[in-house]
Amino acid sequence: MQEQIDGVFRFRTTCYCCKRTFYAIEGTQVYDHVKRNRKGLHCCEECKNRIELEARLELGRRLLYGKF
Ligand SMILES: [Zn+2]
Repeated sequence: MQEQIDGVFRFRTTCYCCKRTFYAIEGTQVYDHVKRNRKGLHCCEECKNRIELEARLELGRRLLYGKF
């Protein structure tokens, strides 16, 4: 569902990772995702950052130890 607070549109959605309700604020990547696919899986900023960090660590490990 879309809400407007202080002139900024936002969608209230649930994070598929931590199951918390969060707001996707207009102008952010996740907002575009929610707008395009309301019933899709969306994750909050915190989980997104965590997933990106883990991906980076994984990439770092691969670069360090070679491909496996
Ligand atoms: Zn989350």
